[in-house]
Amino acid sequence: MGFFLQERHVGWADCGTDSRGRPIGYAFPAWCDEEGCTAKIDRGLSYACGGMHGGDEISCENYFCEKHRLNFVVDGSGARQICGACAKLALIREEGCDPGWIEDADGTIIPFDPARRRKKETS
Ligand SMILES: [Zn+2]
Ligand SMILES: [Zn+2]
Repeated sequence: MGFFLQERHVGWADCGTDSRGRPIGYAFPAWCDEEGCTAKIDRGLSYACGGMHGGDEISCENYFCEKHRLNFVVDGSGARQICGACAKLALIREEGCDPGWIEDADGTIIPFDPARRRKKETS
């Protein structure tokens, strides 16, 4: 039994890489993904935006320290902690703005969906 638990742990320690090729899993020390934040974290689930590796409808795939993951959202899977950028997007969605495109801080119209934005950035 103990052996199994340990095996499971090893699985979560190394979860492969994210879309930018960064190693993910709690075995990998990292810095908070908030720009300018130097808090030391790891890329484990406890620091993942939305509490899961990889982005989804409400969270991005980045990893944040406690301070930068203070926004709680409640969805089908319960309460999840997300980063400031994702919280802003969630708020826009709540308020019923055009879900397709939003205006960023510089007034540029960008895709609303964080996943689509990432693709645009990398292509
Ligand atoms: Zn996020
Ligand atoms: Zn931080």
